[in-house]
Formats: sequence, structure tokens, C-alpha cells
Amino acid sequence: MRVLILSDIHANLVALETVLNATVGRYDLLWCLGDVVGYGPCPNECVEIIRDRAALCIMGNHDWAVLGRPGIDVDDFNPHARQAVLWTREELKVENLNYLKQLSDTPVQPPQMDNLLLTHASPREPVLEYILTPTTAMENFACFSEQICLVGHTHKPAIYRWSLQEEAGVQASQVARVDLLRPQAGAPVRLDTSSHLRLIVNPGSVGQPRDNDVRAAFAILDLNAMTWHYERIAYPIELTQNQMRAANLPRRLIDRLSFGW
Ligand code: ZN
Repeated sequence: MRVLILSDIHANLVALETVLNATVGRYDLLWCLGDVVGYGPCPNECVEIIRDRAALCIMGNHDWAVLGRPGIDVDDFNPHARQAVLWTREELKVENLNYLKQLSDTPVQPPQMDNLLLTHASPREPVLEYILTPTTAMENFACFSEQICLVGHTHKPAIYRWSLQEEAGVQASQVARVDLLRPQAGAPVRLDTSSHLRLIVNPGSVGQPRDNDVRAAFAILDLNAMTWHYERIAYPIELTQNQMRAANLPRRLIDRLSFGW
């Protein structure tokens, strides 16, 4: 079983279609880690594709903000993100808002996979927390029991590896540590796990990468081989930018796609 893992599409239809076209026949299931909308120009199209194709999708903070849920205040967003959220709220068809409404805002275990957990942001704070450092990851490993947790939200591809190691010189004493591994695009890695080895894995963002690489990011998780195929693909950014201009979305959001931040 191979699963296409998408996160943080952010209504960037051109990027989403580019990823889907490049992965035809390479996966059996599609999971989305949230933030289908927000920032980008094509929220309805992106929701409809995910609704039709994703076996699982979870709630992101932008999805949540568009719904106007208590617990996330659109005024906490920066002014450009807020403007995009308000625009998206007006733009979305009722049936697409209803789809976003029923997404889970708590971590989800895929059916019959008790080894895996999916959440948008973190196990500790499923919609909001950014896991950007080994320290934050370490705190989060205490908040779930599965061996692998898939997260999005930061728009930065990463693998955090928690391991228990014998402490040098101290008998029968173990210390936990977390290492940040930066996967290389196109170079599959094995996701080895054990009682001494657990992982938090982030595929990066399809629609608004923030690691100074403008290409769309995604991953294919092979559940038989337990390999993580993280990849990047170039898409015609100017098409998305033209759509954003036509929708009068903020200039800063248009420009940032050219820089990958
Ligand atoms: Zn996001």
C-alpha cells in the first residue's frame, strides 16, 4: 500500500494538479494533512479535488479560520493571511464549507493502522503548534503513543527521530534524544521504528513552500516497504500568481511564492 501524502495545499490549484499529474499510478490512497485553503486563489477547486480523492483529510488552522470556529481568531493571523481567510470565506460554496466543517480537528489514526497518527500541526496542539525544533518535537513525542506521526503546518519538510540510547558509563540507564533529519528530495528513506525509535514526519507544503525552494513538496509513504519518498516538483508559479492577482489577493502573498518562504 502506497499513500500520497499532501499537506498545506492552500488553494494553489496549479501546484496541486502538477503533483497529481506527476504521481498518477504511483499510489493507492491519498491522505491530506490539512490547510486545503487559505492564501491561494482556488479554494473551491482544491476542496473538491480533496473531497473526491482523499481517503483521509484533517483540519488545518486556515480551514478552521475560514469556518470562523471559536478557538482560533482570524485577528491573530497576520493582516495578509487574514485578508485571504476572509476572501476565502466569501468565495467557498456552501457544500465546500460543509466539507471543511466535518474534518477532524484532533489527531486521526488511519483505519487498521495503529502504528500511525495524522495531525495537522502537532499531537499536543493538533491545529496550531509549529514543530520546528528537536525540543518541541521531544515534548510532542510524549503526547502520542504510535510509532510514526505525520504532521504538516510548518511548510518545511523534516523528519524528527526520537531514540532511546544507553547512557555511556551508566548501567541500565537510557536517555531519549531527538534528531532532526532533513530528507533529500528524490532520495527515499526507510522509516525504521521500534520501541526505541519513533518518528514525526513532515512532507512540506504543496501550495506554499517555506524552505527557500519554490517547488511543490509532497511525499509517498510506502506502508509495505516502510519507505518515505519525499519529492519536489516545479510548477508554473506565474499561473497561480495571475489567478491571485485576478482575485485581488495581497501582493505579499503573491510575491512569496517566487521565493519559497
Ligand atoms: Zn499551512
